[in-house]
Amino acid sequence: MTRERTSGLATEVRFLKGVGPKGAALLEKIGLRTVEDVLWHLPRRYEDRRDAPQIMLLRPGRSSTVIGKLEIVRSRGIGRGRVIVEALVSDETGEIVLCFFNQPWVGRQLEKYTGQRVVAYGSVKEGYRRRLELHGVEWEPAEDDVDAFARIVPVYALSEGVPQRLVRAAAAAAVGQFGNDVPDPLPHTFRKQHGLPLSSEALTELHHPTSDEARIRARRRFAFEEFLYLQIALQVRRQEIKQEVGISFPIRSLGKSRASAGTLFEPETGSPLSEEVAALFPFELTEAQNRVIQHVWRDMEAAAPMNRLVQGDVGSGKTAVAAAAMLAAVRCGWQAAMMAPTEILAEQHYFNLKKVFDPRGIPVVLLAGKLGARDRKSALAKAENGEGRILVGTHALIQEGVKFHSLGLIVIDEQHRFGVAQRMALRQKGETLPDVLVMTATPIPRSFTMTMYGDLDVSVLDELPPGRSPVTTYWRRPGDRSKVYSQVEELLATGAQAYFVCPMISENEKIQAQAAEDLHYRLSTGVFAHRKVGLLHGQMKAQEKEAVMEAFRAGETAILVATVVIEVGVDVPNASVMVVEDANRFGLAQLHQLRGRVGRGARRSFCILISEGTSDDVVERMQTLVDTTDGFVIAEKDLRLRGPGDLMGTQQHGLLTFQVADLVKDAILLEEAREAARLLVANGELDRPEWAMVVERTRARRGDEALVTVS
Ligand code: ADP
Ligand code: MG
Repeated sequence: MTRERTSGLATEVRFLKGVGPKGAALLEKIGLRTVEDVLWHLPRRYEDRRDAPQIMLLRPGRSSTVIGKLEIVRSRGIGRGRVIVEALVSDETGEIVLCFFNQPWVGRQLEKYTGQRVVAYGSVKEGYRRRLELHGVEWEPAEDDVDAFARIVPVYALSEGVPQRLVRAAAAAAVGQFGNDVPDPLPHTFRKQHGLPLSSEALTELHHPTSDEARIRARRRFAFEEFLYLQIALQVRRQEIKQEVGISFPIRSLGKSRASAGTLFEPETGSPLSEEVAALFPFELTEAQNRVIQHVWRDMEAAAPMNRLVQGDVGSGKTAVAAAAMLAAVRCGWQAAMMAPTEILAEQHYFNLKKVFDPRGIPVVLLAGKLGARDRKSALAKAENGEGRILVGTHALIQEGVKFHSLGLIVIDEQHRFGVAQRMALRQKGETLPDVLVMTATPIPRSFTMTMYGDLDVSVLDELPPGRSPVTTYWRRPGDRSKVYSQVEELLATGAQAYFVCPMISENEKIQAQAAEDLHYRLSTGVFAHRKVGLLHGQMKAQEKEAVMEAFRAGETAILVATVVIEVGVDVPNASVMVVEDANRFGLAQLHQLRGRVGRGARRSFCILISEGTSDDVVERMQTLVDTTDGFVIAEKDLRLRGPGDLMGTQQHGLLTFQVADLVKDAILLEEAREAARLLVANGELDRPEWAMVVERTRARRGDEALVTVS
């Protein structure tokens, strides 16, 4: 966080009590030059030293404060030049030995206090012959103020050679001398409304906690403030987009010459385009799909560019929504582009869309990196001369140098890999601002949606198409593999089909393909030698893949061995068994996605995860999948297990990194900050002078990593 420098806060640290020039040089090592730097160098954690039991009551394995008389100090070598300093401390109930490893100087300091009372904090251990020891000790002579030591003590992040004690002293002095100089950017009434303590008080509390409650309230204040800046930026962004002028797709007047002239409020079903969409698929759209399509069309009709997110669990039918949007764009005379995060996914979309649009004479063109030079050239020409009406590719491809004839709509199918910045970059591509529809392959927790996509309008597909049967999931150890195989065989005997997902051993597609070939060999020459076993991986040619899929779809092959290629788009209702080998190598969200391939038909479906329980983390992942099929529950769990950065990929770090706030723990606070930001922006409150500092800081925040492209 950038903080402006007012005179007192700009004071150099060497002027702080207990720091001096030497201390200042050390503090500089961790980037602390001014009082302000020190104040905003917040503790990493706290030690509660208030509990100071009598020595008799100390329990090994716990951290405790010890108060007693320092009896004897001695140093002894323990070989290879190492030294241990031991100090015996006693009270009326017992004795304990404070142990200091390789800090010979501590012996000399301690000796000065023999016979006097000291107070120490550390972790209690049981040593040789059950003697009580205290390790990792911090201590002070207990001259007068034991309470100053036995309190909730801040622990700061350090680097080598910078003593904790120095940072603590600097922080204490900074708070004491300058704490009140810290300005509060939030207006008084706003703070009261949200129960936020004054900035200076909260900061003081964080460095010098008086109670757990007050400290938690102080932390909450700064977490809220961080969320608020980001959410204001996103809301402003959103408002800016709404004021831009894009394309008004005349969706409702399509085919008016035929139908009676409708008003904007005519029943939404029954319009010619609705009829055409209904005829697009071999199934009836779910209510949720219809609802979301209406949201999308309404956005497309409006002059402001659409900026909408469609969120839905695996298999909820997002592609149909995308197709409906693209059809609308095409019928209004524009091109539509669909971008996928991987080539495989792009190809998959291409084949599916082709099936839908070919019969209607709407040309779908694939822009893939794999294309030969000639095909690529022809695809690019079709994008530019307008012959291609729907263009499908990876986002890398479409972002780079493709010229469009008349691009009106961009659909981003993103499996959460696309940031605000990239979306903005895209938007600035065309002369006319195209509409943007983002589809996230859940699971993404809500707190993420609000951060990553806080500038978007959100529609949720909260209904799965009918005919899905719940999948029963089992977790089996590798030792049970042959038993699992014979159970699969029993199901195959009833006419079911099965997927075998091969272990994820590498991101490298070639190596991964090899792994799939190995598993295919093992199964097709071993237990399942009497069955037809297919093989599918990313290194195969598109045609080969199609043939393999066709054979499996037609029931000619009983088993399909595959890499995560099948994570996307593969849809065979009769396949009701999935075995995931070395399931521990997959992330929770990915396993959920994979599992979505079964449970699509009338048969009872099973997913069997084969994995060792090598760590708590693995156990928790496996157990979560066994326990639930709810994508959002899984998403929250995934976030908790992996942490935000990892979940979203490195590009997203900027938006997801906070100094104080925590997307998992502070999810409710985030909602509150978002709503507050929404109201501030909607009511134009930020123009008032009392919000000037907030506006300034929001700008600073918007300037950092993730929001760079925001004008
Ligand atoms: P996702 O939301 O995971 O992208 P898809 O769009 O790939 O889901 O759809 C999953 C499967 O469900 C596809 O095979 C699709 O044809 C099918 N599907 C989509 N909508 C419906 C529906 N309303 N009724 C029946 N099947 C549907
Ligand atoms: Mg999809």
